[in-house]
Amino acid sequence: MQITGDMLIGRLAVRGSDKPLHAFNPSTGEEIAAPVFGSGTAENVTAACELAQKAFDPYRSLPLAVRAEFLERIADGIAGLGDALIQRAQEESGLPKARLEGERGRTMSQLKLFAQVVRAGQWLAATLDSPLPERKPLPRSDLRMQKIAIGPVAVFGASNFPLAFSVAGGDTAAALAAGCPVVVKAHSAHLGTSEMVGRVIQQVAKDMDLPEGVFSMIVGAGRTVGEALVAHPAIKAVGFTGSRAGGTSLMQVAARRPEPIPVYAEMSSINPVFLLPNALATRGAAIAQGFVDSLVLGAGQFCTNPGLAIGIDGAELSKFIETASAALSAKPAQTMLTSGIYAAYQQGESRLAAIEGVAPVAHGIEANGPTQACAALFVTDAKTFLAKAELEDEVFGPASTIVRCKDAQELAAVAEHFVGQLTATIQMDRDDLPAAKSLVPILERKAGRILVNGFPTGVEVSHAMVHGGPFPATSDSRVTSVGTTSIERFLRPVCYQDFPADLLPEALSDANPLDLWRRRDGEIVRG
Ligand code: NAP
Repeated sequence: MQITGDMLIGRLAVRGSDKPLHAFNPSTGEEIAAPVFGSGTAENVTAACELAQKAFDPYRSLPLAVRAEFLERIADGIAGLGDALIQRAQEESGLPKARLEGERGRTMSQLKLFAQVVRAGQWLAATLDSPLPERKPLPRSDLRMQKIAIGPVAVFGASNFPLAFSVAGGDTAAALAAGCPVVVKAHSAHLGTSEMVGRVIQQVAKDMDLPEGVFSMIVGAGRTVGEALVAHPAIKAVGFTGSRAGGTSLMQVAARRPEPIPVYAEMSSINPVFLLPNALATRGAAIAQGFVDSLVLGAGQFCTNPGLAIGIDGAELSKFIETASAALSAKPAQTMLTSGIYAAYQQGESRLAAIEGVAPVAHGIEANGPTQACAALFVTDAKTFLAKAELEDEVFGPASTIVRCKDAQELAAVAEHFVGQLTATIQMDRDDLPAAKSLVPILERKAGRILVNGFPTGVEVSHAMVHGGPFPATSDSRVTSVGTTSIERFLRPVCYQDFPADLLPEALSDANPLDLWRRRDGEIVRG
């Protein structure tokens, strides 16, 4: 497939007339000469959003089997791009081939999983309350409820997942599954990869003769096309993964609209790991190795990267710090996704090192490339941690801090102090159960996912997964951005009162032609 540098608006390839953009190769530190990408304008955003609005009713009204087939054919189309997609993604992201192949697999299986979800129809949440005509003092109407698509959705591709959380990633898959047209704002860190995947979606939509506008992809700066997209009246929800500054800024744009809309932003998290005493005593060395491996995975550019470990001071914790330091010192520097992310990491690391009461204890092998990050480990005490709010700021990359607590009370105080997190991890043995039991209620209030004896990197795409959490981990703690229930973000309930049978939506008709499990007078029944 030839990459042209165009945007994809409905069925057209459109040349952006604003500032020209080049893709960037972080491994060489150089721009990729051709093609040049044209940034879009507010007019391009309007064109994409108007098409999306027009496509909304026809798209959401298609049989569920057609919607499911759309998702499956996108997955097959991505497979059909073969090695060319991986090569381009490697060139633009600096990520290793094996990682990108795994990510492509995840992207495809995510789309296919959502196809199954669409067909099964549980997301409709079909609910029927029988009328009670004889009820006194007032009769009850016939009430039936189902969920419908919220409207066209704006998706901001993530820098750190060029495939699985970008053009055809989790947000897009969930929105299309819900019945929402999607307008993607491609991330400038992987413009060519975005175009390749976008063209697959565009072609599948055309081949299936789906309403034009079911998918568009805009290129350009966040402050211009990104803001214009969120502000456009046709857009009814936003999916975003990125920085806290970017996410909160888009939340403000959405809140200032005449019709405010939800922004589902997944932003920053430092994913604390609690090292309980018996676990440290019996297998501290193995935990230290696993912790460091998780920390440096993908150059630390995961939202679930373990940026903090907390333990009770003593010989076992000192041993843990020693082993982790030795493991980290042997880790090679790795290329980061963009020069901006690299610069932010350098600043973050220097910021940590400059905090009074924080000591650097280990550094990875020195860099030999332009945007390579060295892993870094710091140690502090609970008193310092509790006093310095900046220790809770995400440093996006392979840096982590170990917090020494004087006792269990101080450890609990550190847990209580946290702002919202995507994950919290407990390393425990059987004898740590009482301590873990007192920690869990605190962590439930702080995090979207609580792990025992694992490491937070690696997010399964499944039915029970929660990739969410209280602010600032996300903008809305009630939902997840990974897993099948992420579809909930793009749905809203509608109640149909006293509808004649032939006006009812299929999912709510007495004959139940979709063969759904439904809540009928409070009971879950197939019928
Ligand atoms: P970002 O700067 O937040 O950008 C993400 C996307 O949002 C980009 O498309 C960007 O457009 C757009 N955007 C940013 N600010 C905007 C604004 N005020 N208005 C409208 N659109 C806006 O994130 P990034 O480029 O991926 O990485 C930068 C930093 O984000 C990293 O150093 C890291 O701290 C954090 N990050 C966190 C996670 C996580 O999962 N926790 C993941 C990735 C990044 P442009 O094309 O103009 O940049």
